[in-house]
Amino acid sequence: MADEMLTPRIIAYFSMEVALENRVPTYSGGLGVLAGDALRSAADLGLPLVGVTLLYRKGYFSQRLDDEGHQHEEPWEWPVDEVLQPTDGRCRVKVEGRQVIVRAWRYLITGMSGVEVPVLLLDTDVEGNDPYDRTLTHSLYGGDERYRLCQEVILGVGGVRILRALGYMRVAKFHMNEGHAALLALELFTEELTRTGGQREDAIGRVKRMCVFTTHTPVPAGHDQFPLSLAEGVLSPDHWDALRTLGCCDQALNMTVVGLHLSDYVNGVTKRHSEVSRSLFPEHPIGAITNGVHSATWTAPVFRALYDRHIPGWREENSSLRYALGIPLEVIRQAHNEAKQRLIKEVNDRVGVEFDQDAFTLGFARRAAAYKRPTLLFHDPDRLRRIAMQHGPLQVVFAGKAHPNDEEGKALIQEIFRWSRELQPEVKIAYLPNYDMELGLVLTAGSDLWLNTPQPPHEASGTSGMKAAHNGVPSLSALDGWWLEVPLEGVTGWAIGSRDRGPSLERPDDEDAQDLYRKLEETILPLYYGDPLRWAELMRLTIALNASFFNTQRMVQQYVTHAYRDR
Ligand SMILES: *Cc1c(COP(=O)(O)O)cnc(C)c1O
Repeated sequence: MADEMLTPRIIAYFSMEVALENRVPTYSGGLGVLAGDALRSAADLGLPLVGVTLLYRKGYFSQRLDDEGHQHEEPWEWPVDEVLQPTDGRCRVKVEGRQVIVRAWRYLITGMSGVEVPVLLLDTDVEGNDPYDRTLTHSLYGGDERYRLCQEVILGVGGVRILRALGYMRVAKFHMNEGHAALLALELFTEELTRTGGQREDAIGRVKRMCVFTTHTPVPAGHDQFPLSLAEGVLSPDHWDALRTLGCCDQALNMTVVGLHLSDYVNGVTKRHSEVSRSLFPEHPIGAITNGVHSATWTAPVFRALYDRHIPGWREENSSLRYALGIPLEVIRQAHNEAKQRLIKEVNDRVGVEFDQDAFTLGFARRAAAYKRPTLLFHDPDRLRRIAMQHGPLQVVFAGKAHPNDEEGKALIQEIFRWSRELQPEVKIAYLPNYDMELGLVLTAGSDLWLNTPQPPHEASGTSGMKAAHNGVPSLSALDGWWLEVPLEGVTGWAIGSRDRGPSLERPDDEDAQDLYRKLEETILPLYYGDPLRWAELMRLTIALNASFFNTQRMVQQYVTHAYRDR
């Protein structure tokens, strides 16, 4: 890798999960998809960047749902040797007093103009390692607290050492995508303490100039943290000492706090999320760089072809999607019908519910977690049934995995199964199993309206609505995350709840549900069935106003401008 040694300003992007492609199950949800999209856009832009993550030979998991909606988790083995290239990169990391050998595999992301961004996937399933240590890179978010902290040592400390072993000596910036990667900064701090002979302030200053931290979590309980007794047992004595010298974690090893203390540039992932983060950590300056999605990845084939025809150059310059304003409405309607056909076929083939091409179709897919309130739509089932009978027909498609330990999330899936029986035939409801990137595209492109009902302020950003926007699908969303940055009501979708609210006020389910029903019956369904041309205008505006901005090309350019520059 001699040429990389000569490259002056490499950015190393660390993330616990990265969604590389559909057959590589090394992601669980939005965080991993965002990381993958960021790396894809970096490759498109020709940035000198390298990604670092863990291998996850057994992936996250494959979801099977039985007739009652019980989730069964099955291992998702994937052909590592077919997808990745081995590298010579090897290093050792001390975990719980044991030396663990770490090796790296490589995946190449090729950008639009041929520039390659390598992603290094760290692997401890190596001959010579202790049997427990060999499992450390098997499962994403599997195991207990101890397993997780050991994994984070491999990612952070192992990641920095693997980069050095592969000849990346001149890394200009280390980007921690969420707190899981924060131990990389502790490793750099340890390096610098040695170099400066223990001069704490000098060492902190030098590390900070190298580090960028992005937080994705808007509530204190969501921050990754570990008891100090566990940290003392897992970290090497050098890292433990460095942590004490840093002096920021007296109660617990809080990864967000480590990231905040050792980074010169910190950001939240939407404007609202950075306000919320500043209120949690008032002593730290926290900027805002709003998330996006990789435009070409999240545009369905039929819309890609349409943009290629009407907006040449949109892949190179995603902001030119604003020129969707000039596409004839009939052409957009036709493309959407094709994307919808694809979705209806998927539903009818996979779960045998007879969905109808002409019926208004709501889509809802994301991790099955309580704060996303996937059952808010069923808050008043009689009212929902009445709406479907008077203003419908109405059909709803769901998808999403619950974390294996999240009993509440799993119960929500079962609840949706119960409503799907209860509410038929007036409202048709389908839950598609094993949500992944491929299904994500089919769902976001083929629905007529994308529904999002998070409990504020829990949704730091949300990105699935941005995917929908790339396919002209408007949103009906609670006012949280990215949707607060789309303030025009009825232009590219609708809001649930009122806008004049402090940054961290929770919303009563009842009020939000009433607002949701009101929007559906008074505005949305009458418009959809009564004025198809105005609906198509809304679709066109959704592309022009939202896809042109909420993409990772714009996002990565903002990271270059604000985060990756010298200061
Ligand atoms: C985009 C995506 C997500 C994130 O969706 P949110 O609405 O941001 O929660 C999760 N899982 C998959 C498979 C995705 O493609």
